Amino acid sequence: MFVTGPQSHARLIANGANRPSMRARPSHYVTDISCPGPQGTTASFCQSIQLATKLSENAAKTRKTGAPLPSLTIGNAGILSRALSRSECTANPSFTKDQPMKVLIVSAHPDPRSLTNALRDVAVEQLRADGHEVQVSDLYAMNWKAAHDRDDFPQMGSDEAMHLPFASMNAMADRAFSEDIIAEQDKALWADALILAFPLWWFSVPAILKGWIDRVWMAGVGYQISGERYGAGRMAGKRAMVMVMVGGGESYFSDRGVNGPIEDLLFPINHGMLYYPGYSVLPPYILHKTDRMEQERFDEAAEQVRERMRTLFTIAPIPYRPQAEDYTERKFELKDEFLADAPAGFARHIRPQA
Ligand SMILES: Cc1cc2nc3c(=O)[nH]c(=O)nc-3n(C[C@H](O)[C@H](O)[C@H](O)COP(=O)(O)OP(=O)(O)OC[C@H]3O[C@@H](n4cnc5c(N)ncnc54)[C@H](O)[C@@H]3O)c2cc1C
Repeated sequence: MFVTGPQSHARLIANGANRPSMRARPSHYVTDISCPGPQGTTASFCQSIQLATKLSENAAKTRKTGAPLPSLTIGNAGILSRALSRSECTANPSFTKDQPMKVLIVSAHPDPRSLTNALRDVAVEQLRADGHEVQVSDLYAMNWKAAHDRDDFPQMGSDEAMHLPFASMNAMADRAFSEDIIAEQDKALWADALILAFPLWWFSVPAILKGWIDRVWMAGVGYQISGERYGAGRMAGKRAMVMVMVGGGESYFSDRGVNGPIEDLLFPINHGMLYYPGYSVLPPYILHKTDRMEQERFDEAAEQVRERMRTLFTIAPIPYRPQAEDYTERKFELKDEFLADAPAGFARHIRPQA
C-alpha cells in the first residue's frame, strides 16, 4: 500500500489472499481501491485513508497467517465509496420548481421517424423550453455496442478469464473501461434526471438498451462495493423515469390481463435497473395500443409527455422501500414489522401510502 498527497491517489492494495467467490457480497471484496484526491481533503477522506491503512495492515497479517481476508462492513466501506466518488460526482441536487436542471434521455429505436423517437423529441423540446439542459443518447444512431464482453476492459489480457463483476470492480478505480462506456457514464453522472425512452419488446427493453445498462452500470456507477443500493448509491438524489410505447391495450396489462400487470413487467426496470443504483424513480409514462396511432391520439400523447416533462422535478417518486431502512442487514429480507401490511408480489417493495 502507498499513500501520497491529496492531489494524487491514495491506493489501497489489500489483497493477495483468497479471491472471494462469486457468492461473496461485493462488500467483502477489497482488492484494489483508489481514492482519487479530492479538491480539499475532508474528514471522511482522511477516515478512508485510515481505514485503507488498517485494512492493508490486516491484509499483510492475513498473508502471513493464511487467515481469510477481513471484510468491509457496509458502514466503513461506505466511507471509502463516498471518498471514491467525490472527485467527479455531482452533488445531490435539491430540486426546486423553476431551477434549470440537466437531463439525459437514452432512446432505443432503430427508426428516426418512429413514434418512440417522435415523443422523445417532444420531451427534449419541452425540457429545453423550460430552460433545462438536455443530452440525448440515441443508441441506434450511435451504433451502441450492446454486448458486454472483454473489449469493455482495455487492460484485460486476451487469455484472462472473464470474471466480469470482478473485472468491473478492478477497473473502477482507474475507470479502465472502454471509451464509449466512460462517455455514457459521464453523461449519466452529469444529469440530474435520466429518461429511458423505448418500445416494449418482448415484455422488456430492446436488447440495445439492456446493453447500455449492462455496460454503463459498471462497479462504482451502477453498483457499489460498499453494498449501498436501493435508495442509496451513486445515483442517489437524481431522478429517473421510463417512457414506454406498448403495442398491447391497457386491459391486456391490467391485474386480470393475460400479459400480467404492467407495473410488474416494469418492476425489473424501475426497481432493478434504476432504483438499485440509487435513482428516485418516477411513475412511468406508458402509451398503449401504439401500433395504430392516428394524429389525434399522437397529439394527445404529445401533450401528456409535455406535462410529464413540466413536472419531471416536482412529482413524487414511487415510494420504493430503502434497503438500509426496511430490510434486514444480512439477509436483505423485509423486516418483520412491515410484513403484516405489505401486499404480496412486487408491490411488497413499495411503502404503503397513508
Ligand atoms: C421485437 C418486438 C417485440 C414486441 N414485444 C411486445 C410486447 O412484449 N408487448 C407488447 O405489447 N407489444 C410488443 N411489441 C409491439 C411494440 O411494443 C410496438 O410495436 C411499439 O410500442 C410501437 O412503438 P414504435 O415507436 O415502434 O412505433 P412506430 O412503429 O414507429 O409507430 C407506431 C404508430 O405511430 C404512428 N406515428 C409515429 N410517429 C408519429 C408522429 N410523429 N405523428 C403521428 N403518428 C405517428 C405511426 O404512423 C404508427 O401508426 C413488440 C414489437 C416488436 C418489434
